[in-house]
Amino acid sequence: MRITAVAGGVGGARFLRGLKEHLAASPDPELRGAQVTAVVNTGDDATMHGLRITPDLDTVMYTLGGAVHEEQGWGLRDESRVVSSELAAYGTGPGWFTLGDRDLGTHVFRTQMLREGLPLSRVVERLCERWQPGLRLLPMSDQPVETHVHLADGRTVHFQEWWVRLRASVPATGFEQVGLEAATPAPGVLEALADADAVLLPPSNPVVSVGTVLGLAGGHPGAPLGLPGAREALRDGGAPVVGVSPVLGGRVVRGMADACLAALGVPATALGVGELHADLLDAWLVDDAADGDLDGTTLRGAAPGCGRVLARPLLMSDRAAAAALAGAALETALAVGRPGSRPTRSPA
Ligand code: GDP
Ligand code: CA
Repeated sequence: MRITAVAGGVGGARFLRGLKEHLAASPDPELRGAQVTAVVNTGDDATMHGLRITPDLDTVMYTLGGAVHEEQGWGLRDESRVVSSELAAYGTGPGWFTLGDRDLGTHVFRTQMLREGLPLSRVVERLCERWQPGLRLLPMSDQPVETHVHLADGRTVHFQEWWVRLRASVPATGFEQVGLEAATPAPGVLEALADADAVLLPPSNPVVSVGTVLGLAGGHPGAPLGLPGAREALRDGGAPVVGVSPVLGGRVVRGMADACLAALGVPATALGVGELHADLLDAWLVDDAADGDLDGTTLRGAAPGCGRVLARPLLMSDRAAAAALAGAALETALAVGRPGSRPTRSPA
């Protein structure tokens, strides 16, 4: 059994940890032995103090490796800030981006390996030897990609500056993934998307996490284009695809993902987000309490028999809830994927 997920940072990591726990507790030996691959967004990556930083990969790696700062959702627990305060004393920035001392160890080692010529996917493997996330972690690409944000006031800033420094308070008008058009998928990425027994889209940021990897349907100006070949691999491949809405009752759960949707003129609703992937989803999960009246409807733009909307509890309030959510998504995908039950998503 091969299961693939396309993930960003915190939402993706919590869902993946839930998936891992759901599989480990399953009475079905095939599920207990399932190989999970996470294709992770690298569009948030940045270079700071000469160090290459890959926030979404690290969030997934630390969370699955049991080392994450649980309340914060990212970074390592038991951190100190000695190096950061020394850098601040020199007046060298950016002071708004938190780098803990232990976390810096990861960034130094990663940068050293990249300078020696190792591709990012190999670097991630090496880092995972320590953290043992219990799944195959793949960066979407070995080539650097950086999301830049066009702001309504005319500036263009790195995604991290908009997100972390400005807290998305200045409206954005579009996103540009520098390097994405020329990037190739990392080894194993297209196969993991096309040939899995189930592909799950966790409730990650629909624009700057999932959208960076897969692009978006609907031709929204300013939307990410997606990693070349990734969307086609998913749409035309044999894997059933089930997505989980990051929007419950018209609100994103944690953080500011609604500011990304607003930049594209996409409504922050469960259906609005689902329709960004209507062409490749077999089913789309919305919240049973907040969006329950959508149960049984179909996403606009879906191929006949695809894009079914199902209501389930979507709030990952604790680890058990995350495991139940991942289980519900997987069960839906496996039901769709039964021989003969899968309609074709490709346009005729
Ligand atoms: P980031 O890279 O750290 O921003 O994290 P992601 O891209 O993985 O995910 C952020 C998204 O996760 C946000 O849009 C949230 O709406 C969504 N999210 C966070 N917690 C939950 C939850 O408990 N349930 C659901 N359905 N979505 C969640
Ligand atoms: Ca992210």
